[in-house]
Amino acid sequence: MRIAVFNTKSYDQQFLGKANEHHNHELVFFENKLHAQTIRLTEGMDAVCAFVNDDLSTDVVNGMADNGVKLIALRCAGFNNVDLEAAEKRGLTILRVPAYSPHAVAEHTVALILALNRKVHRSYNRVREGNFSLERLVGFDLHGKTIGIIGTGKIGEVAAGILKGFGCQILAYDIHENEACKRIGVEYVELEQLFRESHVISIHCPLTPDTYHLIDEDAISIMQDGAMIINTSRGAVVDTRAVIDGLKHGRIGSLGLDVYEEEGDLFFTDLSDQVLQDDVFARLLTFPNVLITGHQAFFTEEALTAIAETTLQNATDYEQGDINEGNLVRYEAHVRG
Ligand code: NAD
Repeated sequence: MRIAVFNTKSYDQQFLGKANEHHNHELVFFENKLHAQTIRLTEGMDAVCAFVNDDLSTDVVNGMADNGVKLIALRCAGFNNVDLEAAEKRGLTILRVPAYSPHAVAEHTVALILALNRKVHRSYNRVREGNFSLERLVGFDLHGKTIGIIGTGKIGEVAAGILKGFGCQILAYDIHENEACKRIGVEYVELEQLFRESHVISIHCPLTPDTYHLIDEDAISIMQDGAMIINTSRGAVVDTRAVIDGLKHGRIGSLGLDVYEEEGDLFFTDLSDQVLQDDVFARLLTFPNVLITGHQAFFTEEALTAIAETTLQNATDYEQGDINEGNLVRYEAHVRG
């Protein structure tokens, strides 16, 4: 297939190029993101390969369909950036990579918890400046603490397993309980109980209308004083202004983010010589107890290899009329009443 691969970085070209050695698609790499102004690049393409921060809203989907594109091959798990209804109306098939390495994201989650708790980001700077003081670096033992996991799918399950290994008690909230989690002693509770009892709250559910701003002012008001919040799922699950308020008043003890509500204009790009225009994000950066990574939780060799292979296998399957149903994104399955 002739596939327009949007929003590519060196690592996308490297991993997709290698996987394509045995798929033999015609990959046309563009550094541009996919959005209304770049639709014309899809002319003559059979498929479009897009990432989390590409814009596949109504006009873009219709424009691609007008240009003859038949397949949207997402090289990511989430699809909240795609107008599923428009794609279905225009007969476009959407395939994604639902699982690549849950370990990558779960391990990054634990990295954020440990770094924030033991203030590794601060001690790194201090030691480089010859400051060996331990003042204000005190952390807590993870052992024996209660961790609340919201969303116990593939990533939440792995995170729960790792944190069990630290000797933590795991409370979980999910609309579907995961038997594997129960077997390792995870206790399912209502969201309110999870908020009330957890020392650390880690988010692993998708962004849906139900989870938009799940962590808001009300949720923060019932959390323990000094609770740690970690979000490696999707930015808008957390109301950023509410957490800033919680941080300012000391209600939130620390915050670890790999995702941010308005990350589309920031992440995956070197903006180091520009003035930051996002005042909310800039405020977050001023807190000593906030640690932000730029949507890199998935970024391991294993995950990139798996993402590239599944993305191109999806295209090959589509071409051969043998779609993997598990990778198919259906409009009706994701509509909420
Ligand atoms: P998954 O589909 O295996 O698990 C998601 C879980 O969330 C499921 O158990 C589902 O029942 C649950 N859920 C759905 N709606 C819910 C709700 N309203 N309340 C509570 N739970 C709900 O997905 P996964 O592979 O574990 O990924 C989880 C999320 O992590 C993805 O949706 C994606 O947004 C994010 N993610 C981030 C990165 C990164 O690099 N930061 C990488 C991959 C995935």
